[in-house]
Amino acid sequence: MTSVTDASIAALAPAGSTRLSWLNSFAGLGPDFYTELQPTALPSPYWVGKNRGLARELGLEDTWLESADTLQALTGNRVLPGSRPLASVYSGHQFGVWAGQLGDGRALLLGEIDTPRGPHEIQLKGAGKTPYSRMGDGRAVLRSSIREFLCSEAMHGLGIPTTRALCVTGSDAAVRREEIETAAVVTRTAPSFIRFGHFEHFSYNDQHAQLKTLADYVIDRFYPDCREASQPYAALLEAVSERTAHLMAAWQAVGFCHGVMNTDNMSILGLTIDYGPFQFLDAFDPGHICNHSDTQGRYAYNRQPNMAYWNLFCLGQALLPLIGNQEQALAALEPYKTIFPDALQARMRTKLGLADEQPGDKELVDATFRMLAANKTDYTIFWRRLNGLTPQSGHEPVRDLFFDRESFNGWALQYSERISHVDIGLRADLMLKNNPKFVLRNHLGEEAIRAAKLKDFSGVDTLLALLQAPFDEHAGHDSFAGFPPDWASSIEISCSS
Ligand code: AMP
Ligand code: MG
Repeated sequence: MTSVTDASIAALAPAGSTRLSWLNSFAGLGPDFYTELQPTALPSPYWVGKNRGLARELGLEDTWLESADTLQALTGNRVLPGSRPLASVYSGHQFGVWAGQLGDGRALLLGEIDTPRGPHEIQLKGAGKTPYSRMGDGRAVLRSSIREFLCSEAMHGLGIPTTRALCVTGSDAAVRREEIETAAVVTRTAPSFIRFGHFEHFSYNDQHAQLKTLADYVIDRFYPDCREASQPYAALLEAVSERTAHLMAAWQAVGFCHGVMNTDNMSILGLTIDYGPFQFLDAFDPGHICNHSDTQGRYAYNRQPNMAYWNLFCLGQALLPLIGNQEQALAALEPYKTIFPDALQARMRTKLGLADEQPGDKELVDATFRMLAANKTDYTIFWRRLNGLTPQSGHEPVRDLFFDRESFNGWALQYSERISHVDIGLRADLMLKNNPKFVLRNHLGEEAIRAAKLKDFSGVDTLLALLQAPFDEHAGHDSFAGFPPDWASSIEISCSS
């Protein structure tokens, strides 16, 4: 027998037989953690980008992303039956200063669905005002939504932990930033969107019962091994530090700058989260600042690992009421100081095509960074071309990237010696899997965005396909793997999104 509720759900269910199976465990934490509310509708939505691969991974039918009902639901114009939309509350340190309460000011958690990859939360970013919007309008613009959609998939393609994006939908509704732009919504997914700032919120407000509830929720779902430790909350801090250390190594190795590493933009799962003014390095400049609002360079490329540690320290402070002992909290942070550099070295060795570690490798990696910095060499192109350098072959394509040929020759001699006993095939294989041909350079995103503003979304599709498989050759698409044009350096990306 069909109940009234079932019948009404069936009537609302999006096309195809896809019926999402909602779990909504975050909602189970209780009202201290969020405000339940509905998204604010946007007029006449249209598809901007679809990630069919992710939809399939999540067990959604191909038809689901084709349906007009899904388009409405993922723009916030109708509720997916079984979801329980809410905005969560968190706080955080922004640019080194305690900012107090923040929260999901424009993101709505629809809930959590059961998938073949385990439970996944679904969030709509840009779905309207919430009680945490402060002065904001609750919206996201097309430009930044395309950037987040593409970059989160680029990171995933690179094998770097990240939240992901199922689609972007747009509307011609006007949104005021430095100029008038149009609105868009990114549908994001992750096992959890919990941030360091969620813990800071309850700790700073002396809500220690809620702090414990949150920590237990995270441990039970994502860090079950910590439960076995003598001090589970110190173990949690250590485990988060470890994941964050690996994340930083991955960012530094691929030349990714996040741009706004505030504690509210740090994932408790060690995922790259909240894509704003991010940038992949073009020329290698260790002090590069990608965020034009970051006047002090707090989040410059070469400061990211230290900033992550600073943020972990804040998380440690937030967890102190549960850990109870400052020494233990500090001890839990200690491994970061060795895990990060070791993980970075390991990644850089694979980029050099070295499968094992030998004495002198660290010096070789350091010398490589110094040479790239002195010559402002294109970071991605250098590594991809390096693959072709063998002790036997001429070094021309790589050498051409350096104006200081002498210092390159010295380095190449050192490198050739190191690889002289390395199997060529093995090395080539390792390098091809670790030195991407395609990264989301600012100018590539910009070109796709310009076309999208004119309702041509083919550039978004093309980039998505390239970035999801960035180590592949993709014949016919070399122009996406070339040097940035001159105008790329004039692109200004700020916090405005
Ligand atoms: P962010 O640095 O972009 O991660 O955002 C910091 C805080 O500002 C978070 O609480 C966001 O939810 C909020 N926020 C950013 N942009 C908006 C907006 N347009 N409307 C409402 N809240 C926003
Ligand atoms: Mg944020």
